[in-house]
Amino acid sequence: MCFFRLLGIFTLLVLLSSCVTNPETGKKSFILISEGQEAQLGAQAYQEVLSKSKLSHRKDWNAVLQRVGKRISEAAHRSDFQWEFRLIDSPEKNAFCLPGGKVAVYTGIIPILKNEAGMAAVIGHEVAHATLRHSGQRLTANLGTQLGVLVLGQVLAQEDSQDKRLILAALGLGAQVGVILPFSRANESEADEIGLRYMARAGYDPYQAPKIWERFGAQEKGGPALLSTHPTSDSRKQKLQELIPEVLPVYEKSPQWGVGVDFTP
Ligand SMILES: [Zn+2]
Repeated sequence: MCFFRLLGIFTLLVLLSSCVTNPETGKKSFILISEGQEAQLGAQAYQEVLSKSKLSHRKDWNAVLQRVGKRISEAAHRSDFQWEFRLIDSPEKNAFCLPGGKVAVYTGIIPILKNEAGMAAVIGHEVAHATLRHSGQRLTANLGTQLGVLVLGQVLAQEDSQDKRLILAALGLGAQVGVILPFSRANESEADEIGLRYMARAGYDPYQAPKIWERFGAQEKGGPALLSTHPTSDSRKQKLQELIPEVLPVYEKSPQWGVGVDFTP
């Protein structure tokens, strides 16, 4: 593709994309792709991950995941998302939510979550990354002009390419494609804060959130992607503890499910 054509398309893109304000934080950010395009990429990446994964048939864990998923998605006030919650049978201690509301939890993280509220804390955090459009922000920040153009036109149609790998990585699927592009620390703190709010709004005891990081911390030794790309467990635990007083009034107005059910091994 010639340079001027690329430049023309890029200019058009910039004109079409706009400064978006997040209703939950009131913060403005410039994002190069639309929410619809983000959701399309999210759905495609989700199918790709699911096709390569083994789903867990644990009825009890799946039931909790669906219940927590429903409550957190309602608390996130995004009825326009095509929500989906799947439990993947894998020792990985991880979870993700792709743009548009495609959520996966790996069974390896269940012992660390310990109970339903623990799952609500992690899903709240991952969902917050999606509702805050951190993937779109990261995509905008990380990809150059040419890649920005490719995002819209060609990448979805490509079988496999470095560009596609980078985009999937930007969407949060780094581990699957062998490239890890971490969210920034600012994004992580923001997802922790809004995730805690979602959890409390959904009726789950917010005191359970810092406890997960305590359990993570006890296991942390050059661990998986979730750990190595995120701020240290200790600092997250501390920050979450400080934020709890802010969400307690929200929790008190909620149906108050407490910690919910405990996960049995
Ligand atoms: Zn995160």
